Amino acid sequence: MAAMHEELNRIVAMLSDVSEEKVGHKLVTLGKLNNKKVVVVFSGWGKVAAATTSTMLIERYAISQLLFTGVAGAIQNHLNIGDIVIGTSFVQHDMDCAGVLGIKRFEIPLLSLTEIPSSKALQIKSEQAANDYLSSDLVNDVDKEELENLNITSPVIYSGLIASGDQFISSEEKLQELQQALPKLLAVEMEGAAVAQVAYEYDLPFIVIRIISDKANDDSLIDFPRFIDKVASHFTAGIIKNLV
Ligand code: SAH
Repeated sequence: MAAMHEELNRIVAMLSDVSEEKVGHKLVTLGKLNNKKVVVVFSGWGKVAAATTSTMLIERYAISQLLFTGVAGAIQNHLNIGDIVIGTSFVQHDMDCAGVLGIKRFEIPLLSLTEIPSSKALQIKSEQAANDYLSSDLVNDVDKEELENLNITSPVIYSGLIASGDQFISSEEKLQELQQALPKLLAVEMEGAAVAQVAYEYDLPFIVIRIISDKANDDSLIDFPRFIDKVASHFTAGIIKNLV
């Protein structure tokens, strides 16, 4: 699953034996990548879109593992645009039952869970795939000038906690509130924790790989679509190719 059309297109372009199916409003692409059968689909934005799309992949295509790629806002100050975040656990930052029935902030009602981990095996493989991409493929894959314009000199791979909510975070106030409430939090986005919850309920191994596109604060990226098209989508397609 990819959260950006530019990423999706680049992933689909790597497939062989391609066919397409329409499921609801979604176009699903079936094919082979490195001789493995894959199903590629746009996740939509937000937790509901990500949850329904994940469920569709499990129920209709009986997928054996789920890889999710997209962009995210950095929460810790040392993360920079172009860095890669591999999600090791996921929290829904807008889940709040306000203490009703003793349910704490961020706890998923009835599951009694706050953080949901991704597959350890896929974390290790994703770190390796991202490392291989950065150390060998990147130089021939992304225009040097595009990287220089965004001050991307040597992207770093981080593994850790990702938070998701139905909100694009772009204010210093909300950023600080999240930093305080969740001190280990690396990045924020709108889908990962929803994918995690569905995967948890179906016992499905999954991983989420995010490229930092912004710093979740008042100065948003000047040209978001250009960053996705010229940089982030190359990173994710390259990593996915190595991973699969
Ligand atoms: N503002 C952009 C669109 C946002 S895209 C534009 O003008 O094109 C929304 C996607 O970005 C979602 O998939 C979400 O997961 C991710 N995302 C990136 N940075 C984010 C942030 N700071 N807060 C929340 N989601 C973010």
